[in-house]
Parts: sequence; structure tokens; C-alpha cells
Amino acid sequence: MVKVAEGLQAEATSWKQIIPGPMLLMGAPGVGKGTQAKGIMAAWGIPHISTGDLLRDHRLNGTPLGVLATQIMDSGKLVPDDLVNQMVAERLERPDTVRGYILDGYPRTLAQAEWLDQRLRDQQSDDSRLAAVPGGLPLIAVSIQVSYTQLLRRITGRRNCPTCQRIYNVYLQPPKFDTVCDVEGTPLVQRADDVEAVFHERMRTYTALTAPVVDHYRASSRFVEVDGEQPADEVMAGIMTAVARLRSQT
Ligand code: AMP
Repeated sequence: MVKVAEGLQAEATSWKQIIPGPMLLMGAPGVGKGTQAKGIMAAWGIPHISTGDLLRDHRLNGTPLGVLATQIMDSGKLVPDDLVNQMVAERLERPDTVRGYILDGYPRTLAQAEWLDQRLRDQQSDDSRLAAVPGGLPLIAVSIQVSYTQLLRRITGRRNCPTCQRIYNVYLQPPKFDTVCDVEGTPLVQRADDVEAVFHERMRTYTALTAPVVDHYRASSRFVEVDGEQPADEVMAGIMTAVARLRSQT
């Protein structure tokens, strides 16, 4: 672990010089996309754009999209492509995306992937914001792999504190007392789509609709696959090293 931390520090200088550009984090529910995206966001100062989080914000705010998405999300199915694409298009317009961004949980269907590929092609040819980046930056796709059994424990054990949003896992990282937050003492809650029946449905959806998206990007020269069962900092080091190497060749 110490070695990894030293390695991370030694690489940090060269990482800082990188313009990370657009990145996808792909993988089944529970592989750790959110955790990795937050680490990369902190290291490279680019936004983490999670379509799941954006949809949950819509639900909280009671927007028409949020109202429509609620039932679909709680059943483990996917929100229609055109609505999600539109939501992503709006988010990518924000100026914080100019040096790059990490898309988490998107694209989840081939239609979404084709929409995104087209958008990036259009952007490379006519977005003046990218004029400073020689040749524009092509997408790098990262796929994180974790076994089904491990995913089941990670997802069905996940609980969060509704007050401070800390995340626990009743099997892997339990709170000190019963099922209340260590810091707030608030009873922990489980996301409606983290119950076991919905987990299996989400995995079926992933295999049928999202695994082909991973294969779509696997065919490109900017594809990275990492073992998500290693400690989180090793996963992150693997991702950042691979992205830095690919960007130096871009
Ligand atoms: P997540 O937090 O990424 O696991 O997403 C939670 C739920 O939001 C998913 O099970 C879907 O119902 C919905 N969702 C998130 N991202 C997408 C997407 N790219 N396309 C369609 N539905 C999505």
C-alpha cells in the first residue's frame, strides 16, 4: 500500500501536465465507478458527470424528467435514450468541461454511444473552445471489471447516511453501531434500486444493453480495462497511468 502511495506521488507531477480530455468510466453497477471518478476529479480538476446522480437530482427537484424517471429507476430499467442524451448535452455545455470530464454511467446503450461519438466528432470540428487543444481530444474509455458475487455484496450491502451522504456497506464496511451513521447518528438508508431483486434486474439490463457498449469502445485504440477487485487506490493508479500514457500518444 505504501509503495502504491509512493508511486502515486512520483507520477503526480507528470499527471498534472496532462489535459485529460473526455473519459468514460464503464462497468456494471457496483464496480466502483463513482469512487474512481471522484478520485480522478480531485486529481485532474475535471468534473465527474454521473447520469444516475443527475437523474436523482431531477427526482429530488420534482422536474418532469425526475417524475418520469422515478419508476423506471426503481425497477432497474433504463430511462429513454433521447431524454438522457438531452440531459447530458445540457451538462456538457457548461464551461467546466473544457479540459475534459468523466462520464460515469453513460453511455449505457449503443444508441447513447453513437449519439456521444457523433457529438464529439461535431465538437472536434467546430467547437472553438477546443481550438486550444491540438487536434481536439478523442475519448478514452475505461472499463472496470468485478465478479458478480462481489458486486452483489457491494450493492445489496450499500447504505448511506441521509444527513451527510457518507456511504457504508453492512458486509464490507459496516457502521460502528447497528445501522446508524458513525458521525451523525442518523439511521442509514438503502437506495430503492439496491435491493437484491432490483440488483439482478440491473445486471440483466447491463448484460443486454450496456455490455455491447463496452465492446464498441474495446474495438478502439483508446480503451483501458482494469481489475476493480484490487484496493481502490491501486485501481485509480492503474486508470491514471493508462490514461496518461494514452494521452501522451494522442
Ligand atoms: P446509477 O446510479 O448509474 O446506477 O443509475 C441509477 C439508475 O438511473 C439506472 O438504473 C437507470 O434507471 C438510470 N440511469 C442512469 N444512467 C442512465 C443512462 N445513461 N441511461 C438510461 N438510464 C440511466
